[in-house]
Amino acid sequence: MLSKRDKEVIWHPYTQMQTAANAIGIIKGEGVYLFDEDGRSYIDAVSSWWVNIHGHAHPYIAQKVSEQLYQLEHCIFAGFTHEPAIKLAERLLKIIPGRHSKVFYSDNGSTAVEAGIKMAVQFWHNQQKQKNKIIVLEHSYHGDTFGAMSVSARSAFTKPFTSLLFDVVTLPFPGKKNPEVTTTALNSVIENNKDEIAAFIFEPLVLGAGGMLMYDAAVLDELIKICRQNNILTIADEVMTGFGRTGKTFACEYLQQEADILCLSKGITGGTMSMGVTTCKEEIFNAFLSEDKMKTLFHGHSYTANPIACTAANASLDLLLHDDCTINIERIAEQHILFAKRLEEKLAFKNTRYCGTIFALDFPTPGQTSYFNNLRDELYHSFLNKGIILRPLGNTIYVLPPYCIKNEELKTIYDAIEDKLLRFTDGAI
Ligand code: PMP
Repeated sequence: MLSKRDKEVIWHPYTQMQTAANAIGIIKGEGVYLFDEDGRSYIDAVSSWWVNIHGHAHPYIAQKVSEQLYQLEHCIFAGFTHEPAIKLAERLLKIIPGRHSKVFYSDNGSTAVEAGIKMAVQFWHNQQKQKNKIIVLEHSYHGDTFGAMSVSARSAFTKPFTSLLFDVVTLPFPGKKNPEVTTTALNSVIENNKDEIAAFIFEPLVLGAGGMLMYDAAVLDELIKICRQNNILTIADEVMTGFGRTGKTFACEYLQQEADILCLSKGITGGTMSMGVTTCKEEIFNAFLSEDKMKTLFHGHSYTANPIACTAANASLDLLLHDDCTINIERIAEQHILFAKRLEEKLAFKNTRYCGTIFALDFPTPGQTSYFNNLRDELYHSFLNKGIILRPLGNTIYVLPPYCIKNEELKTIYDAIEDKLLRFTDGAI
């Protein structure tokens, strides 16, 4: 049994290994389903930590990756280059919102963010300006490496490392009711820290790990504009929102303003393998050009621009940019809206939110909103027992499916959530 062998040798991410149930041994993936060694199937309603966009083991991506494996599996990316990396960069730069002109490859979402922060800070350093403060949004999450943790909300996850994280300036979350609180805060931060702020990093429109919190494009536009007027670089972390999640290819397409730096990962390879990308405007890149070697961006990972990952990403882009995929994304968005209406009409439940293919709701738990509350585990296991993978963030349930999910499969998920809500409001879960 995989689950027994696993227990002997593996330490799982975000898992309290003493109390966690044995890991479920998965032997196959197909479309929206994962199949375990006991013959059970699960709808992957969270796209395997938000990475999968076209379904598991997609034959088109598998074919392209397989061909590439026989051609070139990997080569060093300093001093060398290859077709899959160039092709992917050319294609990304055409579709990324904003006039970005260079692509920097790395390994995952956290490294894409690390590279983005380093680009921003060194941009100023290379011009002899001591600007190294970073502005972040309350509840933000940008990854688990030290730089990425530093620009994320301080939480139970970061607690053991608090003293090692660099200080950031946090703006209040721009809630729908009074988003001007955030712009006012930004203005006063700028007033008090003039000439010290290097960059503002944000998750556009949806704060993922912070609880699928959603905010308006208009306030983000205003924040970016204020930054631009005050010589503060802007970094859009589209690691979760990129590649169709919010209804457009990139969430930044909802904006009038352009970010200077963009971080991508997760859906970039369709969920096939790990890859990070940081793109930037020409002005940023130019600040690193010099006869002086000290102005180099000294950052790189062994597997930078891995040709297999680049090929998976190119194949995933082929699928994403096809009309069928656009139609699916629109269909899922519509289904989410209908589900929200259904909950409001049937259960008078209004606490829902949605953005493109993302749907979220908060279970009403007065005084019990922590990620670690028992409700979270209860919900997780009861959905799992119904063959649905939903990983609540505290009392927040969200649906973030691969785009190939069918309406019947969405209905299965919605019915399970509705059933749980019904029992919950009845006082029994
Ligand atoms: N940024 C955002 C917005 C994310 O949601 C995540 C991962 N959930 C990351 C960065 C970090 O990505 P990774 O887990 O690939 O390091």
